[in-house]
Amino acid sequence: MVTFIGAGPGAIDLITVRGKTLLETADIVIYAGSLVNPGLLDYTKTTCEIFNSAEMTLEQVIAVMERGEREKKTTVRLHTGDPSIYGAIREQMDMLTERGIEYTVVPGVSSFCGAAAALKTEYTLPDVSQTLILTRMEGRTPVPEKEEISKLASHKSSMALFLSSSLLEELSRRLISGGYEANTPAAIVYKATWPDEKIVRTCVGELYTAAKENNINKTALILVGDFLGTGYSRSKLYDPAFSHEFREAVK
Ligand code: SAH
Repeated sequence: MVTFIGAGPGAIDLITVRGKTLLETADIVIYAGSLVNPGLLDYTKTTCEIFNSAEMTLEQVIAVMERGEREKKTTVRLHTGDPSIYGAIREQMDMLTERGIEYTVVPGVSSFCGAAAALKTEYTLPDVSQTLILTRMEGRTPVPEKEEISKLASHKSSMALFLSSSLLEELSRRLISGGYEANTPAAIVYKATWPDEKIVRTCVGELYTAAKENNINKTALILVGDFLGTGYSRSKLYDPAFSHEFREAVK
């Protein structure tokens, strides 16, 4: 059996209980060494075989899983954050299916959640934005034309940009040409929840300068939108004048 596990954003106690239990019993762990906190490997048993997928091809990863199956071992594939977001797990799962190998997926705390916690903020504020767009600038992986940043920016919703911290001049240009004001609040969160986490508060027009001043060009999320500002309306859910299924309005 192969299990894809979300390692969480960094701090080793932000993996799920289920994920930790499976790590503790795994015979083989293949972890994404570029971003997964190696401290998580301390949860494994001493006989566990450990592979760093940063140095492997997809075929090599699958070959390790296949061998594990033949030897009746349990294999954990440890991905950063939640595996469903830029995790490249679909191609692995499809190759396992072709080989008749069973797998399950255990979710994880994505870095966009870790970053919001670090900032002590909420993406979905009444009268500010009720939508969070998760996206990226294109790199070696192209982004479909219909999802070009300036098109997404036209909604002026809350936005979290992955894999983009080395492309900030162009990112700012596209965000502004799409609709955000240059002074829309923004934040760069480097290694959210890691011991060396760094938070830089800035605005859309200053992203490049702010990152440069703080030497950040990787392992960061760029957050953009008025949710980082001061204005919002109170929720209806906790409004004394509002009744709902579980509570009568205060008269
Ligand atoms: N599956 C992961 C994302 C993998 S893509 C998740 O759910 O978070 C890798 C990108 O995620 C990085 O380039 C960076 O933009 C972001 N990232 C991952 N961990 C991060 C962290 N602890 N702090 C800030 N950004 C992080």
